[in-house]
Amino acid sequence: MDEKFDAIVVGAGPSGNAAAYTMAKAGLKVLQIERGEYPGSKNVQGAILYSDALEKIIPDFRDDAPLERHLIEQRMWVLDDKSYVGTHYRSDDFNKPPYNRYTIIRAQFDKWFSKKVQDAGALLICETTVKDLIMDGDRVIGVQTDREGGAVYADVVILADGVNSLLAKKAGFHAEIDPKNVALAVKEIHFMPQETIDARFNVSGDEGVVIEMVGKITQGMMGTGFLYTNKESLTIGVGCMLSDFKQQKVSPYALLEQMKEHPSIKPMLAGGEMKEYTAHLIPEGGYNAIPQISGDGWMIVGDSGMFVNAVHREGSNLAMTTGRIAAETLIELKAAGKEMTAKNLALYRDRLDETFVMKDLKKYRRMPSVFHANPQFFTAYPELANRAAHTMLTVDGVDKKTKEREIRQSFVGKRSLFGMLGDAFKMWRAFE
Ligand SMILES: Cc1cc2nc3c(=O)[nH]c(=O)nc-3n(C[C@H](O)[C@H](O)[C@H](O)COP(=O)(O)OP(=O)(O)OC[C@H]3O[C@@H](n4cnc5c(N)ncnc54)[C@H](O)[C@@H]3O)c2cc1C
Repeated sequence: MDEKFDAIVVGAGPSGNAAAYTMAKAGLKVLQIERGEYPGSKNVQGAILYSDALEKIIPDFRDDAPLERHLIEQRMWVLDDKSYVGTHYRSDDFNKPPYNRYTIIRAQFDKWFSKKVQDAGALLICETTVKDLIMDGDRVIGVQTDREGGAVYADVVILADGVNSLLAKKAGFHAEIDPKNVALAVKEIHFMPQETIDARFNVSGDEGVVIEMVGKITQGMMGTGFLYTNKESLTIGVGCMLSDFKQQKVSPYALLEQMKEHPSIKPMLAGGEMKEYTAHLIPEGGYNAIPQISGDGWMIVGDSGMFVNAVHREGSNLAMTTGRIAAETLIELKAAGKEMTAKNLALYRDRLDETFVMKDLKKYRRMPSVFHANPQFFTAYPELANRAAHTMLTVDGVDKKTKEREIRQSFVGKRSLFGMLGDAFKMWRAFE
């Protein structure tokens, strides 16, 4: 490994693959290092794939990517202990190619993406962990791996090493992650025949459904649950802020077990065979938690840079977009014969500021602190909304005006008029 590369990419998840593919395709000499046995072996995702981000990298990805179902329906459930109120959006427009969103199995998807990266000319080394960045003063000039004689050099090192980037912390590029800025998610895959899934979710062929859930399933902690349809399996999971798990002393596994027992969820899983259980962190600190993302000889992409939109459960598309834009920045600087200095690489952040990645994260910048400080959004309101629906839908001889009064009183009794006004304002601020 004496040769020098144009770029070394640490990690072969969506961000690393996007960066390595884009650079290799442009003819740059790229080395990608992955600690897993193969790309995807260590990765966890729900998983919804958003076509747009991948299309911008591999326009014809649909020809051979391992896709499960395209999504035609999105359900949003607000649960209390026994019921849910919700909205469903289903559209035939989502049933026409090119499809906008798909469910995928990450282990298969990452393998496929990595093959594209290698076909484009990048060199991938698996089962190799990058232990340190090699510095020349303040400048990153390579990486030290756990292989014998494992120093490798490059003009730029791209850190695509995921949420808990030990390398970025070690090098002082960002601080230890605050448990308030990171969610711990657990998920399971339950296998069942395709016909069972089709019948339960009113779909056929490759059509799929997503259910996003908030409410009492997270026991007052800031978090959400989800259920996705794959071809012959369902993915179910729940994630809450790490600081909340610590404070409430609830185990993520117990939370998921309880969620699966909910009377509206249990029938969907009935008869399935659980074959996979995984847990993973998600960086959900948002815009205000984004660290410095470039410097002399280095750039940070994907989860390592906190690029996750928790409100819309988008992560892999931000990962791919940041990977692509970091790569395009480097390609452009190389073409112009420029040095990989902090000043020149700052172009990456400038470019990113113009994309949906930064615009969306900026829009929701207040969301993490608002929801963290106001557990009523996960407990009181779901309970009140469910009770209100139950009251209105129970036909018991009580007139509707009396029912409305009862509902009003239950809201005021629980949160007070001022409390509700304050909550409405906070909600508006969080999503403004
Ligand atoms: C439960 C769950 C559900 C999710 N659902 C969705 C969803 O439905 N849709 C969506 O878009 N996003 C979702 N996300 C978020 C999404 O998974 C991430 O945003 C995305 O995987 C980030 O990609 P990445 O390449 O930055 O990091 P990762 O996918 O984490 O990849 C990092 C890679 O770097 C490797 N690595 C780490 N350190 C080293 C080292 N020192 N040396 C060598 N290799 C190293 C790792 O092995 C890994 O392969 C979900 C996340 C979780 C946990």
